[in-house]
Amino acid sequence: MDLAGRAAVVTGGSRGIGAAIARALAAAGASVLVTFRRDEAGACAVVAAIQAAGGSASCRQADARDAHAVAAAVDEAAARAGRLDILVNNAGIVRDALVPEMSEADWHTVIETNLSGVFLASRAAARHMLRRRWGRIINISSAGAWRGNRGQGNYAASKAAVNALTRVMANEFGPRGVTVNAVAPGLIETAMSRPVLPFAEETVRERIPLRRVGRPEDVAPLVVFLASDRAGYITGQVFAVDGGLT
Ligand code: NDP
Repeated sequence: MDLAGRAAVVTGGSRGIGAAIARALAAAGASVLVTFRRDEAGACAVVAAIQAAGGSASCRQADARDAHAVAAAVDEAAARAGRLDILVNNAGIVRDALVPEMSEADWHTVIETNLSGVFLASRAAARHMLRRRWGRIINISSAGAWRGNRGQGNYAASKAAVNALTRVMANEFGPRGVTVNAVAPGLIETAMSRPVLPFAEETVRERIPLRRVGRPEDVAPLVVFLASDRAGYITGQVFAVDGGLT
C-alpha cells in the first residue's frame, strides 16, 4: 500500500493504537501529523521514531473536544503538505462506572471526546477533502459498541454513535470521492486496557477464538489499507479487529 505524497492527521497519536497507526501510515509513505492532549513527550517520541525510520511526521497539541484547536491542527497539516488526504479519528477515553453511579461529568467527557471529537475533526478535514474530491476518514470505534459491557454506558453509547456517524458521512461524502469507514478493535494491550487486562484471562480463553489479547500493530494494517487507493470502493463500513470476539 503506497501512501507516498499523502498527508494524514492521526488524533491521539501519542501512544497505543494511535501511535501504531501513525508509524504504519508513515512507513507507507504518508506525512503524518499526530495530535495529543497532554502527553507531549509521548507524541514527540512517536515523531522522532518515524523520522529516525526515514518518515515524515510532526505533532501538535489539540484537545479533541476543542473545535478551534482541532481545526487548527487539521489546517496546519493541510497547509504544510498543500493537501489533506487522510484523517484517523483515534483519540478516545474510558471513564467506566455502572449507570446508577456514573457522574454527569464522566458521561459528558466521554461523549465529548469519543463522539464530538470525531465530528469536529471530520468537519474540519472534510472541508479540505471534499474540495479536492479525494479523502479517507477512518474512525476508531470499539467492539464495546456492540457488546454492551456493564460499566461502559458512556463509552458504548459514544462508539455506537461513531458507527452511525460513519455511515452518515459515508453517504454525504461518497459522491465527492471521500470514503468513511470505522475500525472496531476488541481487547488491545494499551494504557487504556491495562487496568482490565489482569481480569481478561477468562475472556481470552472462552470468548476470543484467536486466544490472545491484540496489539496496536494488529489494528494499524487495516487502517493503512482503508487509507489507500486500493480501498476506493469501500465506504460506510465498520470492521472488527478483535480476534473473533464479536
Ligand atoms: P490510550 O489511552 O493508550 O491512548 C489514547 C490516546 O488518545 C492518547 O494519545 C491520548 O493522548 C489521546 N487522547 C485522549 N483524550 C484526548 C483528547 N481529549 N484530545 C486529544 N487526544 C486525546 O488508548 P488506546 O490506544 O487503547 O485507544 C485508542 C483508541 O482505540 C480509542 O478511541 C479507544 O476507544 C479505541 N479502542 C481501544 C481498545 C483497547 O482495548 N485498547 C479497544 C477498542 C477501541 P493524551 O495522553 O495526550 O491525552
